[in-house]
Amino acid sequence: MLVACLDLEGVLTPEIWIQFAAATGIEELRLTTRDVPDYDQLMRRRLRILEEHHLGLPDIQKVIAGIAPLPGALDMIDWIRERWQLLILSDTFYEFASPLMKQLNWPTLLCHSLKSDESGRVIDYLLRQKEGKRRCVEAMHLLNFQVIAVGDSYNDTAMLTAADVGILFRPPQHVAVEFPQFAVTTDYEELKAAMLRAEQKIVNKAGN
Ligand SMILES: [Mg+2]
Repeated sequence: MLVACLDLEGVLTPEIWIQFAAATGIEELRLTTRDVPDYDQLMRRRLRILEEHHLGLPDIQKVIAGIAPLPGALDMIDWIRERWQLLILSDTFYEFASPLMKQLNWPTLLCHSLKSDESGRVIDYLLRQKEGKRRCVEAMHLLNFQVIAVGDSYNDTAMLTAADVGILFRPPQHVAVEFPQFAVTTDYEELKAAMLRAEQKIVNKAGN
């Protein structure tokens, strides 16, 4: 039995913070873990910026509602769901992702959450657990599922490594170079072909 675990941003949707920075014109929100390697420090900084600009959750959700999934993402999801089980594993927050998940017909999403007060001010973020993507793949193995994982960046490589087959989708060049063990795909047709090959590999391995 097979489950496909897909990253969200960069695989099915644009990068939410980058889009949000573009929509609000707040350049500092473009910072990613590449600029600030400490995730907690990065998130504290983002929350401070939101506060400084008096942006609450409703403002953020309004901007995110204007972001569309990548062209073809919904078809890609439907194609997967006709064949296997599907989980979206993301380091985003439920409160951010919901306008995008609605456009993707609400697939199962495992991510983190934000804490806000009645006025909508974001006061904190809550990690569901550390290394959540990798831990989910391991949990699926315990439930006797085989896993095909698809991601685009550094925060996916532990998940891809833990999976039976890991596939990169439009990764930055340095990630592809650093992790040559994962097939690189650049569009959804290539990804479908790579996932079918992965399934075959898993089936063959189980038959031996
Ligand atoms: Mg990503």
